Amino acid sequence: MTSPHAAPLVPALSPSRASDFLQCPLLFRFRVVDRLPEKPSAAALRGTLVHAVLERLFELPAETRTPRTALSLLEPQWERLRTARPESAELFADDAELAAWLQEARTLLGRYFEMEQPQHLEPRDRELRLEVALESGLRLRGYVDRIDVAPTGRIRVVDYKTGKSPHPRFEDKAKFQIFFYAVMLWRELGEVPARLQLMYLGDGGVRWYEPDEAELRAAEAEILAIWRDIDATARSGVWPTRRSKLCGWCDHQALCPEFGGTPPPLPATVRVY
Ligand code: SF4
Repeated sequence: MTSPHAAPLVPALSPSRASDFLQCPLLFRFRVVDRLPEKPSAAALRGTLVHAVLERLFELPAETRTPRTALSLLEPQWERLRTARPESAELFADDAELAAWLQEARTLLGRYFEMEQPQHLEPRDRELRLEVALESGLRLRGYVDRIDVAPTGRIRVVDYKTGKSPHPRFEDKAKFQIFFYAVMLWRELGEVPARLQLMYLGDGGVRWYEPDEAELRAAEAEILAIWRDIDATARSGVWPTRRSKLCGWCDHQALCPEFGGTPPPLPATVRVY
């Protein structure tokens, strides 16, 4: 039976929202349906800053893409970020804390140059927003950090991570995300990307995958199955919890039954995209 809370759904999914649902359906509800605010984190903000510097770096002539140039972009990009999100500055108790945080960002940029030479790259796209409709009607959305196209036409999808490379047992989340991008590109361009590359600036680790069409079909089927689960959950009005070590990073413990809380009433119109 359809819940009175269920609304006509515009089926759309991004990799991060799909990962939220896999982690915990109630977390997905808090983020996507209730749209509850979350505390900004210094680590996430540093990731945004480093991504912005790398994006800007590739706008410059190839021969100028040196470590010195990247470091010179850091503070101007921080100023832009701080202007766009004034609450960012409140993350730092004092100038010393801010300086240490900026220094960590410099370290990540320095490690990037140990991993590849941007002077020899000419990406086709950076921070590319993709939105692709699958045959089922589900729309996939997401931002791809970088797409390189070799002279042979082979496509490489690059995703920067500002953390350390995970233990193989915990690689699934990042692998799922980059396969999600690969499915979008495959459906958009009709071509299977030759390489999917995760670059972990936290420790210099690189993971890559060279998928074939069967693997992308399987990834697409997995995405559709997640969407069907989200849809069924939204229609039931019951959003189960999934307690894990990741609860330690959840901003919503006070509202979570696992921690003695009570979720707020569902909004009259449930939107899950
Ligand atoms: S605290 Fe854990 S179980 Fe509760 S909503 Fe957050 S992630 Fe889910």
